[in-house]
Amino acid sequence: MTDDRDEREAFRAEVRSWLDEHAPAKGSPEDFSAAHLVSAMTREAFEAAERSALEVTQRWQRTLHEAGYAGRSWPEEYGGQGAPEWQSAVLAEEQVRYGVSTKMLAIALEMAPPVLLRHGTHEQRRAHLPSIVRGDEAWCQLLSEPDAGSDLTNVQTLATAVDGGWSVTGQKVWTSGAGAADFALLLARTDRSKPGREGVSCFAMPMRQDGVTVRPLRQMSGGYHFNEVFLDGTLVDEGGLIGDLGEGFAVLRTMLASERAAIGGGTSARSATQLRALAIELGRSSEPLVRQALARAHTRERLLDLVGARAASVPTGGSIVKLLYSEHARLSGDAALAILGPAAMVVDHPVAAPWLDRFLFAPGLRLGGGTDEIQRNTIAERGLGLPREPRPAG
Ligand SMILES: Cc1cc2nc3c(=O)[nH]c(=O)nc-3n(C[C@H](O)[C@H](O)[C@H](O)COP(=O)(O)OP(=O)(O)OC[C@H]3O[C@@H](n4cnc5c(N)ncnc54)[C@H](O)[C@@H]3O)c2cc1C
Repeated sequence: MTDDRDEREAFRAEVRSWLDEHAPAKGSPEDFSAAHLVSAMTREAFEAAERSALEVTQRWQRTLHEAGYAGRSWPEEYGGQGAPEWQSAVLAEEQVRYGVSTKMLAIALEMAPPVLLRHGTHEQRRAHLPSIVRGDEAWCQLLSEPDAGSDLTNVQTLATAVDGGWSVTGQKVWTSGAGAADFALLLARTDRSKPGREGVSCFAMPMRQDGVTVRPLRQMSGGYHFNEVFLDGTLVDEGGLIGDLGEGFAVLRTMLASERAAIGGGTSARSATQLRALAIELGRSSEPLVRQALARAHTRERLLDLVGARAASVPTGGSIVKLLYSEHARLSGDAALAILGPAAMVVDHPVAAPWLDRFLFAPGLRLGGGTDEIQRNTIAERGLGLPREPRPAG
């Protein structure tokens, strides 16, 4: 009988040879591994770029699905393959080496499933998971509001019970992928008389309906990436409530833990191989300082692989991976600019422009999915058992 390691290595070899045949090489013109970091200088260009990033990602997800490599460890009754968890990890680790990514569908593929499998009903799982695994459903997350970010206990969006379900009214902000999404994981207050986290519930809300207005937001870089979302009498049917009424924070905890691990793990855009290609293209790969920067980027990514593989079994693992990744993105942006030299100052320089985008996007990674400060608080309190930070009364 083969031992576990042999089995794992055999599966890895099988996946690698399949990827050699079906996936574009990292750094090739077909490389779409950073497609989800979509950003553009006009609203129209942003919407078009978002559509095309979604299309290329959906095509890839369908290719994975046809080969039996999608939803590898999800239950078979919900469209998965029922394989052990380590096979999903190997698939993600191997895809990172190629010019592919499923991150444009990250909320659908990596956040909605753990939420539905843990808190959802059988009907909700049957309604969504098989379409998600085929790449047919894109999701977004409607959590943050103008007065509720790190502290989501301030959520004010109101879901009022009506015949057959809920009518939702309020404003969300910083929503990634809202324009492309079919469904949202929505956090809303269902009982206005209860303060803080009590009286907040979680829903699966259809995005393509009257009463949902998505308005792209312009960032300090001048580009568009995410959106404000206005909800005005938006309908969620009664089957859309996830978990128990007023227990939205239990669902939120599952969602955030998955999000943190997802941001730094899986097929996240990596940069070491691309930085190496950049240094070679610009003829700078024999310079000692450039070589050191490349070695550091490579080392950070190997560490991310190792920590990512353990994240699920370590308390606060998601927060640790997210912190490592946001630091890696920042340092890689700095390294890219150092390699580019004066070209980095030319905004529409064909080689520099994508790196400038990534450089300007890196500070946002310190905020999205919970800020670095919040991750450190989580690690301090839940990982190290330090006293809880003082919370405002009420
Ligand atoms: C790229 C990106 C994508 C995003 N995508 C989404 C999305 O799809 N859906 C969605 O709902 N939201 C999304 N967000 C919003 C994100 O979740 C919030 O920006 C984040 O939670 C912080 O909230 P805030 O911006 O209101 O800042 P605030 O909560 O007001 O925080 C301001 C500052 O105070 C610090 N701070 C706050 N509380 C504490 C504390 N207790 N201890 C120490 N420091 C503290 C923060 O770290 C931060 O530096 C996204 C943000 C970014 C940048």
